[in-house]
Amino acid sequence: MKYLFRNAMVITMNSEMEILENCDVVVKDDRIVYVGKAKPENAEHSKVIDCTRKLLMPGLINGHTHVPMTLLRNYADDKELQTWLFDYIFPAEEKLEGRDVYYGSLLGIMEMLASGTTCFIDMYFFMDDIAEAVEKSGIRAHLSRGVSTNDRGSDFSDHKGLNESIEFYKKWNGVACGRITGAFGPHAIYTCSPEFLKAVRNAAEKLGAPIHVHLDETRTEHEDSLRNFGKTPAKHLYDLGLFDLKTIAAHCVWVTPDDIALLREKDVTVAHNPGSNLKLASGIAPVPEMIEAGVNVILGTDGASSNNNLNMFEEINLAALIQKGVKLDPLLVNAQEALKMATVNGGKALGRKDLGSIKPGNKADLILLDLDKPHMNPLNKPCSALAYSAQAADVCLTMVDGRILYRDGEFKTIDQEKVYYQIQKICRRILN
Ligand SMILES: [Zn+2]
Repeated sequence: MKYLFRNAMVITMNSEMEILENCDVVVKDDRIVYVGKAKPENAEHSKVIDCTRKLLMPGLINGHTHVPMTLLRNYADDKELQTWLFDYIFPAEEKLEGRDVYYGSLLGIMEMLASGTTCFIDMYFFMDDIAEAVEKSGIRAHLSRGVSTNDRGSDFSDHKGLNESIEFYKKWNGVACGRITGAFGPHAIYTCSPEFLKAVRNAAEKLGAPIHVHLDETRTEHEDSLRNFGKTPAKHLYDLGLFDLKTIAAHCVWVTPDDIALLREKDVTVAHNPGSNLKLASGIAPVPEMIEAGVNVILGTDGASSNNNLNMFEEINLAALIQKGVKLDPLLVNAQEALKMATVNGGKALGRKDLGSIKPGNKADLILLDLDKPHMNPLNKPCSALAYSAQAADVCLTMVDGRILYRDGEFKTIDQEKVYYQIQKICRRILN
């Protein structure tokens, strides 16, 4: 299939941060093949999408989430973290079955497609069901089976989660034309013993798989680590050799300057989740310090039960605002930096130069925003408009791998009514 996006304003997110006006973009099969002002040849053979008064940009990459947690949205809010987890979330999750996770994932994917996300980085369980939802919907995802145990043994060859992780990686990595990639997901240092973390690391290394882990999310985690291990959570993982593998570390709210140097040294990507960190009162990550040190920072929503949505435009906005507010410095995390975190830095985190920007040869993962909205007028500086005025509902088209998955309120690959019906049924069962 060949598409011609005609006459768009294009936010390329390339290294020069070029913004092109009255621009044509041609997509052939799964790739962008042309970006430029001149009318491309053979245009008459393409499906033409008129982009007058529309903005075209790379699809957003949600750097950390637990997509089926849409099922627990608006269920337990305004609670202490421990109460929230142990009295509400874990008991509800105990009742989950594979098909629940499948429909919860489809719901989350619908929400992401409708708000401009084309790829998400996830950690959960019943991963086969999430992968199936990804395959069916057409979105792109980086998936890891979350695993944990505080057992201090040395042999974890019978550990159910770890064995599932290995099987999952072998079965799904590179599947769905490469839209699904796999990782190993040791949950966190407070849910995984050092011996288990090492076992997960070694299993991942054997398969050449990357790591996705929660790190230094709360002050309690940080202080417990100092007490139990005599070092910070980041130094703990560093010493265990986890960072020798390609790693995405979610949160990093309480990292020290020394930790930031370790993250930089090992090229660890940090997934910043400002909405979730605020809602759970975890704190505010030292993002400007990490950017300054050269750490690759990406943006995530975290699960919908601690956010309570999967709207990346909200995270872009929060990421740009909260540092200014708490540090009393309006120059921190400017609009362009916040947009990079949601696009091109996400591509970097996945080791993909062909994701996160609009240029010939890249994957055709892109979105269109309608500029005919009062809050987008006057547009003036497009990057500012995207970080400070844009709303998720401005997204009118979402394309992944050269396929249009969402357009003008309509999902092309997902039966919306069926998903809503199933979700109601599931929630009646698990939330009682
Ligand atoms: Zn998380």
